[in-house]
Amino acid sequence: SRSFSASSPFLFRSQGRNCCNGSSRVVRRFGTSSAAEDIITPSVQVSYTQLLIDGNFVDAASDINRAVKAARKAFDEGPWPKMTAYERSRIMLRFADLVEKHSEELAALETWDNGKTYQQSKTAEIPMLARLFRYYAGWVDKIHGLTVPADGNYHVQTLHEPIGVAGQIIPWNFPLLMFAWKVGPALACGNTIVLKTAEQTPLTAFYVGKLFLEAGLPPGVLNIVSGFGPTAGASLASHMDVDKLAFTGSTDTGKVVLGLAANSNLKPVTLELGGKSPFIVFEDADINKAVELAHFALFFNQGQCCCAGSRTYVHEKVYDEFVEKAKARALKRVVGDPFKKGIEQGPQIDSKQFEKVMRYIRSGVESNATLECGGDQIGNKGYFIQPTVFSNVKDDMLIAQDEIFGPVQSILKFRDVDEVIRRANETRYGLAAGVFTKSLDTANRVSRALKAGTVWVNCFDVFDAAIPFGGYKMSGNGREKGIYSLNNYLQVKAVVTPLNNPAWI
Ligand code: NAD
Repeated sequence: SRSFSASSPFLFRSQGRNCCNGSSRVVRRFGTSSAAEDIITPSVQVSYTQLLIDGNFVDAASDINRAVKAARKAFDEGPWPKMTAYERSRIMLRFADLVEKHSEELAALETWDNGKTYQQSKTAEIPMLARLFRYYAGWVDKIHGLTVPADGNYHVQTLHEPIGVAGQIIPWNFPLLMFAWKVGPALACGNTIVLKTAEQTPLTAFYVGKLFLEAGLPPGVLNIVSGFGPTAGASLASHMDVDKLAFTGSTDTGKVVLGLAANSNLKPVTLELGGKSPFIVFEDADINKAVELAHFALFFNQGQCCCAGSRTYVHEKVYDEFVEKAKARALKRVVGDPFKKGIEQGPQIDSKQFEKVMRYIRSGVESNATLECGGDQIGNKGYFIQPTVFSNVKDDMLIAQDEIFGPVQSILKFRDVDEVIRRANETRYGLAAGVFTKSLDTANRVSRALKAGTVWVNCFDVFDAAIPFGGYKMSGNGREKGIYSLNNYLQVKAVVTPLNNPAWI
């Protein structure tokens, strides 16, 4: 086990194994601690632990070829591309219904796999998963080309066709949402898929893969594999029979997969990478609200968000008050067993990320930022980190430049609008930004000047299925969600026909 062990006071007791539908299932129940009354006890029973290839759960081997072959066959010969758009849409809608029906098991598995709070899984992520598939189900029968007014005596039309086999590589921080952002638009456009989960968090993808089969998705359309990046991931990125690659993860790995795609068959690649997003608090802001939102912007999901507001810029006139209140808020943050009611923060995903975050905290201290609170591990079991706040952070410190991906807030001071725009943009990243002000002029001016794919004004982390998301600069290219994501999974074909063709007369 990763964040938890079987002997943990928190959680799980394995109650045996059995088999179902050809898949091995690990049956587990929760809630054996002495404080059992505080523990939410969802009746999760199933985790599909084998790979899903060509409609069957199979033992892992070196599977990328097998999965790509199944996806290729399903695309070239299978019923999927031949189905009417309406039928394909109905399968996606049925899937969304099944997600809701299984929401407790899914939420529990997601929390177990990842360490995020059960509350968050249940009330935010599972509903968003269903919502996103309904959104894209709505697009399926509205994807069509144009009639083009060309010079000459020609009838010209464009056909919007699926690309073919989509390879998709996802990270561990939002396993189900990243699944949805990738699979939703790819299916809506009629592609077939080989999706590789992050090695840390495979369980829910297999579970929803089973739900897709139940919903009527033909075998081979959605193949799900787990496995490590440099082997399984690299094999998918460089595969000659994969027609498109979509990747979410670190910027360094993004460069690697782009190279692999370029050096194989030049498959188009969309990248959703890291960030170091500014959260800017102007002097006219309601400070209490700004503190709360800045806290949420950074600490949400244990700080493991690509768009985390990880550079909190605060106007000098309100800086001291803000720092004091941000510290008080962080000290109040409730950290612990993610299945327990009222918990705001669970453990980091694994020892690697835990060590990385602790190294950045040490670096903050060594570079003379002021450690206002936190900075340590909580207890000596699991990867729980104290909510940590640094003030007097300078732009050139490592903690202000690198993506920490943990519960570490860095608060910087600024004097005027031009200065903060310049400093906010002085980063290799450009994923998101937050602007907190009561002035419409300031909000408009700053949101247009920031080089970021999303600017949240007086809000943060608003993720609607219809709102596009993606990065400027080294935060990636392409957009996910919304209408924009469809372009990632479509080819445009121009069909040109003479209106008076002698051959037809
Ligand atoms: P990562 O980039 O190593 O892994 C992301 C995915 O890429 C995983 O599925 C992994 O197996 C795969 N992968 C790794 N190496 C590969 C390779 N050579 N070829 C093909 N696929 C490969 O990220 P990580 O180790 O999980 O996390 C490290 C950092 O990545 C984090 O600290 C954070 O900065 C960033 N990250 C960003 C996001 C995001 O949403 N943008 C999500 C998770 C992690």
